[in-house]
Parts: sequence; C-alpha cells; structure tokens
Amino acid sequence: MVLAIARLSNIDPEKKVNGLTKEERGRLFLLLKKIELTAESLLGFDLAMATSGGVLTAEIDGKTMRSKIISNLFFAGEIIDIDGETGGFNLQNCWSTGYLAGQSAIELLRN
Ligand SMILES: Cc1cc2nc3c(=O)[nH]c(=O)nc-3n(C[C@H](O)[C@H](O)[C@H](O)COP(=O)(O)OP(=O)(O)OC[C@H]3O[C@@H](n4cnc5c(N)ncnc54)[C@H](O)[C@@H]3O)c2cc1C
Repeated sequence: MVLAIARLSNIDPEKKVNGLTKEERGRLFLLLKKIELTAESLLGFDLAMATSGGVLTAEIDGKTMRSKIISNLFFAGEIIDIDGETGGFNLQNCWSTGYLAGQSAIELLRN
C-alpha cells in the first residue's frame, strides 16, 4: 500500500517520514481519511485466511458440536461452514468449538 498511497498523495516514496512538510502531512491525512478501496478479486484458495469449510451449521448440534447425521462425529474449527472477519473471530471459533467438541466427545465416551 505504501507506494500507492505515496503516489496518490503526490509524495516522494523515498522521503523519510520525519522529512515530510506540514502540507504533505496534511495531504496524507486527508487521503487516508477519505480513501475508498474496492476489492476487485480474491487471492484464491491457497492464500485464503478462512475457507468456510463446508459442513453446514444446521447439521451440527451447537450445544455439543456433534453431527446430527453421524452420531459419533464431532466438528470443530474451520471445517464448519462459517467464517468471520479477520482479527480473531476465526481463531476464537476454532478454540471454542474445539473445546466444546472435545468435552462432548469425552462425555459421550463416559456414558
Ligand atoms: C495466513 C492466515 C492468517 C490468518 N489470520 C487470522 C487472524 O488474524 N485471526 C483469525 O481469527 N484467524 C486467522 N486465520 C484463520 C485461522 O488461522 C484458521 O481459521 C484456523 O487456524 C483454523 O483452525 P482449524 O484447527 O480449524 O484448522 P487448521 O489450523 O487448518 O488445522 C487442520 C489440521 O488438520 C491437518 N490435516 C488436514 N488433513 C488431514 C488428514 N487427512 N489427516 C490428518 N490431519 C490432517 C492439517 O495439517 C492441519 O494441521 C488466518 C489464516 C491464515 C491462513
């Protein structure tokens, strides 16, 4: 993004930050506040951060993470067909469903 921002704000990209003039800082500030970005395409599966694995939530008991179709099967993490914005939601989903699935599987074995 650095080169694109420098070009759009008409600032020499080689210029050190502490060398910017007050006017250049103002231009940069306005640009960063107003810039609108449009996503044109995805980077593809190999670079995907989240993939919405494909197992429908409707096919999982959300209280145990147990499959509603195969009784001794539990799901956790990204294999479940949900994803969140990056920033921790996906990892939290993996940890929470993993914990629940593990506890539920132990419970099933005990009974
Ligand atoms: C570059 C990148 C950045 C990310 N950044 C964030 C972020 O900032 N915040 C966030 O919340 N999420 C982020 N995510 C998403 C998050 O990391 C994943 O959603 C999460 O790690 C998925 O965990 P998981 O345990 O479900 O699956 P995985 O971590 O994919 O674990 C699946 C495991 O199963 C193993 N496996 C696969 N097939 C088999 C098999 N046949 N037999 C045995 N083992 C097998 C794999 O080797 C792997 O170790 C990011 C993902 C990527 C790729």
